[in-house]
Amino acid sequence: MSTTEPNLSISNPHPEDTDVIQKVALVVACFGVLILLAAWANVALDAAIFMPIAIISMIGGTTVYGARSYLKQPEGIKNNGVWHFSLTSRGAFAWAVGILLTGFYILLYWFPGYVGFVQSGENQGLVALFDPLSMAIKGRPASQWFMYGTLYTIAILALGMKFIFKYRHNRYQLIRTISVMIAQLVFAYTIPEILAALNYNDVTTTAGEYAGYYDADIKNVWPLDYDFFYSYHLDAMQEEAYQPVGMIYLIAGMALFLVGTPVLTYLIGKRWYCSWVCGCGGLAETAGDPFRHLSSKKLGAWKLERWLIHSVMIFVFVMTAVTLYGYFTGTSSVFGLDIYSKFQKPYGFFIGAIFSGIIGVGFYPMLGNRVWCRFGCPMAGYMGIIQRFKSKFRITTNGGQCISCGNCSTYCEQGIDVRAYAQKGQNIVRASCVGCGVCSAVCPRGVLKLENGPEEKRYDLPPIIIGNESVKISD
Ligand code: SF4
Ligand code: SF4
Repeated sequence: MSTTEPNLSISNPHPEDTDVIQKVALVVACFGVLILLAAWANVALDAAIFMPIAIISMIGGTTVYGARSYLKQPEGIKNNGVWHFSLTSRGAFAWAVGILLTGFYILLYWFPGYVGFVQSGENQGLVALFDPLSMAIKGRPASQWFMYGTLYTIAILALGMKFIFKYRHNRYQLIRTISVMIAQLVFAYTIPEILAALNYNDVTTTAGEYAGYYDADIKNVWPLDYDFFYSYHLDAMQEEAYQPVGMIYLIAGMALFLVGTPVLTYLIGKRWYCSWVCGCGGLAETAGDPFRHLSSKKLGAWKLERWLIHSVMIFVFVMTAVTLYGYFTGTSSVFGLDIYSKFQKPYGFFIGAIFSGIIGVGFYPMLGNRVWCRFGCPMAGYMGIIQRFKSKFRITTNGGQCISCGNCSTYCEQGIDVRAYAQKGQNIVRASCVGCGVCSAVCPRGVLKLENGPEEKRYDLPPIIIGNESVKISD
C-alpha cells in the first residue's frame, strides 16, 4: 500500500492512528477545559493568569489537533466512522454530552448561582474566572452571560479552525466559515462588549438604578432578537445619553428586518444569514458539524418542521404586535390579557430559553446540529417563505451524473432528501435549506450546485413525492 494512501475500511474507519502531536494537542485543549472545571469547583486559581491560559489552550490545542488530523490526509470530506463513534451515533457518550449541555443551559438560565454568578457581591467559581476579562473590557465583573458569550465565541473560533482544515478543498466552505467566525467575534461579542464599556447600552430603572444593558448585537435581527421591541429596549435606544448609537441601532435593526433581510434573501437565499452571519448557525456549523447526519429525513419530520417553525413565527409576530400596542397606548394588557405574563414571559421561557437554548444546542448529539434553525427559528421561517416563493437561490442538480450514493441526503443538516431531487434532475427550492453547501461538497459526482439565477417556476413547482409514488412517470 502506498504511504500516501490512507488505510480505510469498515473495521478501521480511522485513516491513521493518533500521533504524538495530536495527543499533545488534545492534552493541551483538555487542560484548558480542566481549568474551567477547577474554577467551577472553586479551586483557588489566579483568574488573571489561568483565564488566558485556558482560552489559549482550548483554541490552540483544538487548532493544532484539527490541523494535524486533517492536513495529513488527502483533501476531501472526512466523515469516516461517524456511525461508529459513540459521540456521533447517539451512543452513551452522546447522551452524556447531551445531558451535560442541557444541564449547563438550565443552570445558566435559572440557577446562575451554581455557575458562580453573584448578583451583589463577588462572583465565585466559573463566572469569577472571567472577571478579569470583563473588567479589562468594560470595567465591571462578569455575568453568567458574559462567561457564556466568551465560551460560545471560543467554541466557534476553535472548532471553526477544525472545520476549515476539514473542508479546505472547498472554497465556499472556507469563505463562509471565516465569515461566521468574524461575525461572532466582531459583531456578536466584541462590539457589544465595547459599547457596554462605554456605557452606551446601559439600561436604568425609573428609579435610576443600573439594570443591565441591552443586547447591542446588531446582527441579531428581529424576530430572532425577540425583545428588540420591548419597551425597555426601545426606551434605552432613544435615551439622550446613548445617541447617536442608540438611534443607529434602532433604525438599522428595523431596516435589516424590513429591507435588508427580504432583499438579500431574494438575491442569494437565506444562506446570507443562516450560514454566513448568524451565531446560532455559526455554532451549528462548527461545533455541530460532527452531528449533521443525525437530522431526521423522515416525511413526518418535514411535516413537523413546517408546523413548528411557522407556529413559532406566528407566536413572535403576535407577541411583538401586542408589545408595540402596549408601548404606544401605555397599557399593560390587551383584551384583558396581561402582555408580560401572557405573551412575553411564555415566549421567553418556551422559545427563547427552552427551544433555542436547551433543545437547540443541548440536543445536538441526539437530533442533529440545526434543531433550532430547522424547527424553531422565526427568522429562518420568515426568510424561508421568501426563499421558497420569491428568490433567485436554488440548488441545481445534474441528474444524469447522480449515482444515488445518498451522501448529500445523509449530511444535509436540515433533513432534506437531496438525493430525491438529484435523481429526478430537479432544482432544489426548499424553504428550510440554509445554503450550507455541504450536500454539494460531499457529492462525489459534482451533481449539486448552489446558484442564484432567474427565479422561474417557483409557484408551480411540482410537489416532491416521497416513496414508491415518486417513481411513477405519469398516471
Ligand atoms: S440542501 Fe444542501 S445546502 Fe441546503 S441545508 Fe441541506 S446540505 Fe445545506
Ligand atoms: S451525493 Fe451526489 S451522487 Fe450521491 S446521491 Fe447525492 S447528488 Fe447523487
